[in-house]
Amino acid sequence: MNHTNLEPKSSRSESDKDARILRQGRKLFIREFEKQLKELEALIGAVRALPVVEDLNRFYRIIHTLKGSAPIFGYDRIGRLAEELVRLWEWTQTIDPDQALSLTSTNPVQENVERSLGLLRDMNMEYDICLTEIQMDEQKDPTGGSMLRTLKSRLLLVDDDEVLRSYLTRRLQLDDCIVDEAADVESAIKLLRTHTYDLVTLDLMMHPQSGYELFEFLKEDPTLKWLPLIVLSGRNDLNDKVRCFHLGADDYVTKPFQYEELAARIYGLLKRTKNFEQLAFRDPLTGVFNRRYFDLQIGMELQRIERYPAPISLVFIDIDYFKRINDTYGHHVGDLVLQGLAHLLQTNLRSTDLLARFGGEEFVIALPNTTLEQAHSTMQNILHIISSNPVAHYEGKPFSITFSAGVAQWQEGLSVADWVSKADEAMYQAKQQGRNRVLCAAAEKESDPNKSAPPPLPEKKSLLIVDDDPILRAILTSHLEHLPIAITHASDGEEALSLLQEKTYHACILDGMMPRLDGFSLLDQIKKDERSANANMKVLMLSGKKKEDDMLKGYQMGADDYMTKPFSLVELEVRVKKLMNFI
Ligand code: GH3
Ligand code: MG
Ligand code: MG
Repeated sequence: MNHTNLEPKSSRSESDKDARILRQGRKLFIREFEKQLKELEALIGAVRALPVVEDLNRFYRIIHTLKGSAPIFGYDRIGRLAEELVRLWEWTQTIDPDQALSLTSTNPVQENVERSLGLLRDMNMEYDICLTEIQMDEQKDPTGGSMLRTLKSRLLLVDDDEVLRSYLTRRLQLDDCIVDEAADVESAIKLLRTHTYDLVTLDLMMHPQSGYELFEFLKEDPTLKWLPLIVLSGRNDLNDKVRCFHLGADDYVTKPFQYEELAARIYGLLKRTKNFEQLAFRDPLTGVFNRRYFDLQIGMELQRIERYPAPISLVFIDIDYFKRINDTYGHHVGDLVLQGLAHLLQTNLRSTDLLARFGGEEFVIALPNTTLEQAHSTMQNILHIISSNPVAHYEGKPFSITFSAGVAQWQEGLSVADWVSKADEAMYQAKQQGRNRVLCAAAEKESDPNKSAPPPLPEKKSLLIVDDDPILRAILTSHLEHLPIAITHASDGEEALSLLQEKTYHACILDGMMPRLDGFSLLDQIKKDERSANANMKVLMLSGKKKEDDMLKGYQMGADDYMTKPFSLVELEVRVKKLMNFI
C-alpha cells in the first residue's frame, strides 16, 4: 500500500510518464508521417500521369490508416485532411480489378488528383507545424514553457468574442506575453495609438466596424504599416483569405484552432520579423555579412581602437581564375564555390573576426587584435587549407580553388576607404606575382608636410548609442546616419560611462539590459550628478522590459522617452528627431 504522503508524488510521476510516452509517440508518428507524405505525393504524381489501380489502392490504404492514427496523437487536422482524401477516393475501392482499364479521363480521377494535391499541400503545412511543435517541445524548459516565452512580446487581440479573447489572453500570458484586448476596431485604434505592439491578431467579423477597417488604419500609419498581423477568422472563405493577404495580413488562421498552432505561428512571425532586420546585413548567397554591415561595423571597431588602442588588420581576398569556373561549369557551380569558400573561411576564423562578402568573388576580413604579421600567417594557413581541400562538390565532382589575398594593418589617421585600398593593392600585387599567395601591404609613408589639413567639418549634434547587441547598434546607425549627427557607440554601461566622462553628448539611446552596468543604473548615475556636463543630455531608453513599472522607473530616473523592443525603426527615428530638436 502506498503511504498517503507518497501518493501525489507517484501519481505525478505516472502522469509525467504518460506525457513522455505520448510525446515519444507523437515524435514517432511525425517521423512516419513525413515518409508517408512523400509516398502519397509520389503516388498521386504517378496516378496523374497514368491511373493504375494498384497505385490508387496503396494511396487509399495510407490515407485510411492516417485517418485513424493521426487523431490518436492529437493531430486532428491531419486526421481531417486524411478523412477528406478518403472521401474523395472511396469509390475506387469498389472497382473491379479486371476493369482497371476503365480508369480513363471520363471518370473523376483527374479532378480528384487536383483536389488531392491541394489537400497534400495542406498536410505538408500541417507537418511543418507539427514538426515545429515537436522541436519547440524538445528545446523547452522542463516546466513546459513555450518558445514564445523567449520573445517576451506585447500583443493586441482584436476580437468581439469575449470567451475566445479571454481564453487566448490567459493562455498567452502563461507564455510570458503581455496581452491587451480590444472588442472592436475603435478601441483597437486607441490602443495602437498609445502602445507599441509586436503583433496583432484580428477577427474579421465584428460590429459595428468589421476587421477590414482596421487594415485601413494600419496601412495609413507608417509606423504601423509593417506591424505583423494574423487574421483569426471563423470564415474559411477563399475570398476573405485572398483579400486579407492583399491588404497586408501575414497569416490567416481559421477558427476553431489549436492554441499550440496559433502560438507557433505567432512565434514564427515574431522571429521572422526580428530576423528580417538582421537579414538586411547578410549576403543572401553565402550567408556571411554584406558590405553594408562591414562598413558600419568597421567604423565602430576603429572608434573602439581610438579609445583602447590595439592592432587591427584587414584582409582582401579575391578568388583566382574564378571566371574560368563559371565559363566551364556554369554559374551555378560558381555559386557553390562562393558558398563553399565563405563557409571554409568562416569556420577557420575566430568568432571576433569579421568576414564579409565585398563584391562578386571578393571577400574582406577584419581581424581585431591582430598585427600584420599575425594576419599574414593566419591567412597563409587558411590558404593552405582551402587550396588543399575541395570547396564544393557538384554532380560528384570536387572543385578546388586558390585565392590571392592582401593584408594591411590599420594605422592612425588611415580612413576605412584607404585601408581597404591598401589591402586591395596588396591583393593585386599577389595576383601579379602569380596568384595563390598572401602579401602584406607596405607600411604607410610619412605624411606629406606640404599637404594641407582638410577643412574642419561643421559642428554636428552628437548621439551616443549604448547597446550590447552589435547588430542592433549597426541597424540603428544605418537608419539614423542620414541625419546631421555624429554617432558614437558603446557596447555596455561601463564603456558608456567613461565616454560620458570625457565628452558631452546631445542625446543618448540607452539599452536597459546590458552586462556589467545596466541602462537603468547608468541613467541614475548620469542624472544624479548635476555638475556633470551630460546631466542635461536627452535620453531615450530602449528597453526589452515592457512592464509599466520599468517604464515608470525609467521616466522617474530622468529618461525623456521610453521605447520597448522590438520597435519600429520609423517610430524610433521620429522620436530621435524630436529629442534632438530636428522637428
Ligand atoms: P583573377 O584570378 O584575375 O581574379 O581572375 P578571375 O577570373 O577570378 O577574375 P575576373 O574578375 O575576371 O572574374 C570574376 C568573375 O566572377 C566574373 C563574374 O561573372 C563572376 N562572379 C561575380 N559574382 C558572381 C556570383 O555571385 N556568382 C557567380 N557564379 N559568379 C560571379
Ligand atoms: Mg575580382
Ligand atoms: Mg578573381
